[in-house]
Amino acid sequence: MLLILEKNISLKAVNELIGRLQWMGFQVVKGHHDNNRESLALVNSLHKQLNPAAFKDLPGVIDVLPLDKPYKLAGTDFKSKPSIIPCQGLSIGGPGIVIMAGSCSVESEEQIMETAKLVAACGATILRGGAYKPRTSPYDFQGLGEIGLHYLSQAAKQYHLLSVSEVMDTTEIDLVANYIDILQVGARNMQNYSLLKNLGKINKPILLKRGLSATYKEFLLAAEYILSAGNPNVILCERGIRTFETYTRNTLDIAAIPILKELSHLPVIADPSHGVGLRNMVAPMSRAAIAAGADGLLIETHPDPDKALSDAQQTINPTMLAEIINSLEPIAISLDRSIIRSQ
Ligand code: PEP
Ligand code: MN
Repeated sequence: MLLILEKNISLKAVNELIGRLQWMGFQVVKGHHDNNRESLALVNSLHKQLNPAAFKDLPGVIDVLPLDKPYKLAGTDFKSKPSIIPCQGLSIGGPGIVIMAGSCSVESEEQIMETAKLVAACGATILRGGAYKPRTSPYDFQGLGEIGLHYLSQAAKQYHLLSVSEVMDTTEIDLVANYIDILQVGARNMQNYSLLKNLGKINKPILLKRGLSATYKEFLLAAEYILSAGNPNVILCERGIRTFETYTRNTLDIAAIPILKELSHLPVIADPSHGVGLRNMVAPMSRAAIAAGADGLLIETHPDPDKALSDAQQTINPTMLAEIINSLEPIAISLDRSIIRSQ
């Protein structure tokens, strides 16, 4: 249930109302509905037995709307306008399209510094690199851990980029958040509910990747875990799903982009690198994702892709990245958007 509040309601009155609702047993989340009207969402299951009309008489409430979708806070009933996630002066989800680029893993100080320099020169604004890697085999390179986070954050700062890196475990959240601007939840962890709940307790943006076999509903409910625990800054990432096709590593679900943007106010970005797994397919799928309405891209880029310690076959070089970003410009313009460039 969503309680729409009176215009110009005082903070004191809002807090009193929240206190009263909490005392009644509700979990209450503050929001802004259409026309920036303040609202309170009652998000636990208690309201199911209650009559919405009864809430209209509460002081400060002018309207009561249903929140029938299972993803109450991620859905457009809670917020119909797109959410813009603020990140160190950069806006994710607005008219500007963000490019996140960098290697699959942080490999060494020199390697990530060189990568940062090259992707910044191409126009990317966010540097990616995994320090904690969810590898399918325990014998593959697992990432450099904390020192990798340090190298990534130094390289990002040096070239005026923001940083994104994966957090795999609840016990590492504070550590990763200490170094990194955007915390990534990998596809394999999309339904790690204790990780999601704990990421809801910080306020840094969370880049949530779609699970390998997750439906849109499951994906949005994973986002709901973070939102309902108190962190409104969630970015969804379509990174391909597993299908019967074996030619590609995954099947990038382009339809997910407009569908998620219709179901949810959260920004949606696409990862064509993991989505297809083939270097030569990154450019066309990047263009397809932006044409479908993606708010950004996550692209694995390495100074010498064949030597990348992980995901070499899907990693592109900086020349290819520059070409991709340039080719996105006319698509963005045709959609009344632009590519945010670092330089
Ligand atoms: C990654 O971004 O390097 C990664 C491991 O992605 P995913 O979780 O989508 O496989
Ligand atoms: Mn990778």
